[in-house]
Amino acid sequence: MPAIGIDLGTTNSCVAVFRNGRVEIIANDRGHRITPSFVSFVDNERLVGEAAKLDATENHENTLYQIKRLIGRTYDDPTVQADMKLWGFTVINDDNKPKIPVVHSCGGNIFCPEQISAMVLEEMKNAAEAFLGETVTDAVITVPAYFNDSQRRATHDAGEIAGLNVIGMINEPTAAAVAYGLDREIKNQRDVLIVDLGGGTFDVTIVKIEGRKFYVRATGGDTHLGGEDFDNILVEYFVSEFKQQHGEDISDNKRALNRLRVACEAAKTNLSSSTQAKVRLEALQGGHDFCSSISRSKFENLNHNVFERVLDTVKNTLSDSGLKKENIDDVVLVGGSTRIPKIREMLGKYFDSIKIKRTINPDEAVAYGAAAYAFALGSDEDSALKEFALEDVIPLSIGIGRRGGTMSFAIPRNTKIPTKVCENRLTVVDNQKRVTFKIYEGERTLARDNHFLGKFTLSGIPPAPRRKGKIKVHLEINACGILHASAFEEITGNSSGITIARDKGGLSESEIKRMVQEAEKFRKKDQELKRRSTARNALEDYAYSVKKEVDHKNLTTPKRICIMSSVTEILEWLDINKKEPPEMAELEARKIELEQLVE
Ligand code: AMP
Repeated sequence: MPAIGIDLGTTNSCVAVFRNGRVEIIANDRGHRITPSFVSFVDNERLVGEAAKLDATENHENTLYQIKRLIGRTYDDPTVQADMKLWGFTVINDDNKPKIPVVHSCGGNIFCPEQISAMVLEEMKNAAEAFLGETVTDAVITVPAYFNDSQRRATHDAGEIAGLNVIGMINEPTAAAVAYGLDREIKNQRDVLIVDLGGGTFDVTIVKIEGRKFYVRATGGDTHLGGEDFDNILVEYFVSEFKQQHGEDISDNKRALNRLRVACEAAKTNLSSSTQAKVRLEALQGGHDFCSSISRSKFENLNHNVFERVLDTVKNTLSDSGLKKENIDDVVLVGGSTRIPKIREMLGKYFDSIKIKRTINPDEAVAYGAAAYAFALGSDEDSALKEFALEDVIPLSIGIGRRGGTMSFAIPRNTKIPTKVCENRLTVVDNQKRVTFKIYEGERTLARDNHFLGKFTLSGIPPAPRRKGKIKVHLEINACGILHASAFEEITGNSSGITIARDKGGLSESEIKRMVQEAEKFRKKDQELKRRSTARNALEDYAYSVKKEVDHKNLTTPKRICIMSSVTEILEWLDINKKEPPEMAELEARKIELEQLVE
């Protein structure tokens, strides 16, 4: 059974498989190699991908997108609060977890981000199964290098809900480096800097490539910077343009905002090849048509600060790696937003434009690398990927809170993974019975300024004077970048531990189980709908073919009338039920009835 690689993007997703010695990008059922990461709920149906994206303007409350910006985050996260204002769907607060209510008759009306991402993953799995003609369960899923522990864990959970066995997770820029390295068949060592600017996230990674060995030197980025920010800036600009033109504010009109957002993304994309782009929307609000345009230089000017953040992150990552810009051999651009001319120009100016490589497809490189990695993980004896080795690093330091509010940096950022460290701690008061460990992620000296990951308590410490009780704290990060923390007391051997995100905001085992069952319910319902829809179309086709044939057959008038009235009745019945295909038994019975009449 082949293992697949899935690039689960904020805007689009892509799936690939390594077979017959090469990577194949898998097209979806519409023949497209990338699939929008959109899910929409319409009447009794769930749509995923292109069909869902098309539904966004009409059915804005039930069309969900950019879910990667929610996954693994808390409701009170400032980025969640800011994004919510621009989305057509609603996000609610459930114990500080963001959840999305939708109107759907198939139960489970309130979804968590993991469930929605699981629907996109399942769509990719289905495309792979249709392409390969066999069941697929093993998969590698990609994540932005800068995703923190909760975001990684939540993505892993989404894979599980989708019925996948997540055999590995790979950072997106690392996957792109693998694609670049395999494609170019690099023999001598090269230091490659990957700039991955997609729809919602930005990653920079410096990778040393030597044949089929990939060593990540440093990684940096921003999990909230990408094409959608440029869209948002354009939306804000045109909202004020509309106000100027018509004296009306559309900020609270979700449908108008959604329509404007789609037009803004198109305008932005056009500006990568033209110097002017138009935005035209009929009856945007209050019967007013909206017609405006924007020049490339105005677009660059509006986004100046965000573009500067891109270059700053590149410089910081370079400094973390200990390399100088002159040491970088190639700068590889991936992610749709690296098509923006200004971004290319800025990078070309900073490095040398000769070093800027656009040889790999920015939309597919990440899935390509993930598929190669999935293959290498899945097969011991592969000749195609002989000597494949991958060494990645953690993007943020991991530490334990100390008395006094500071953080001890147990695992510094850019440490290779998998990794394991052990810290020795002593009791701090006489006869201390228990000790609570708080784990953080980040670079600040004070623990409270970092991202709190979770806490756990070790109890049953035998009585001892202060500083005599000895505790060992183990922190372990696996190859997926997921952290497990534990502690044990040396005399009694008592121990306690957590897998961080399970305890903090993440899903519990039982919640995942419930969601897997819910996903199964959806899967069954979707399959049933598909069967009914096929049967419905077959009956309609048959009715039309009978109608056509009746004229050519030598039939008696009563028989002709009888058949024709049955055909008309079937077509009318199908028309009345066009929102949802009728029950299978009814469809079959009507077809048999007509067949018998025709005989
Ligand atoms: P990705 O996440 O890599 O699929 O990138 C998607 C982002 O790239 C979206 O925000 C797109 O609007 C953006 N994008 C795709 N093509 C272009 C283009 N030609 N110019 C500017 N942005 C683009």
